[in-house]
Amino acid sequence: MTHGRAKGLDHVAIAVKDLDAAVGYYVDVLGFAPPELEEVPEQQVRVAIFGHGLGRIELICPTTTDSGVAKFLDKRGEGLHHVCVEVADLEATLEELKAKGAQLIDQAPRPGAGGALVAFVHPRGAHGVLTELRQGPKPR
Ligand code: ZN
Repeated sequence: MTHGRAKGLDHVAIAVKDLDAAVGYYVDVLGFAPPELEEVPEQQVRVAIFGHGLGRIELICPTTTDSGVAKFLDKRGEGLHHVCVEVADLEATLEELKAKGAQLIDQAPRPGAGGALVAFVHPRGAHGVLTELRQGPKPR
């Protein structure tokens, strides 16, 4: 194991059915500043992001009825969808996970929110929690 590869909790993602209603709760009830909103066509979701840097909260809402998040909501209802760990080198991390027999959903990095590269590890291989590995964009 290459220690130091995981940098910390990047975000937790919560699946919601109504993005506007959920954003209203976070802003009006919990007191967060209004979030950044983003559409991620590759994952067929709209995302509302609270906070900056490590430890963000993301609300994710499906834009289609057959996306992964839509299926999750049908099956489980609203709630914690995944946790995301920021890593220094996503490609190297995936190679290491493959070598160790981890159950990867993505065999290679793919585009995620905010210009990052992401890959998901199946909950079966991650102690019950869908885990996103993320390598943020290089600072410009
Ligand atoms: Zn995420």
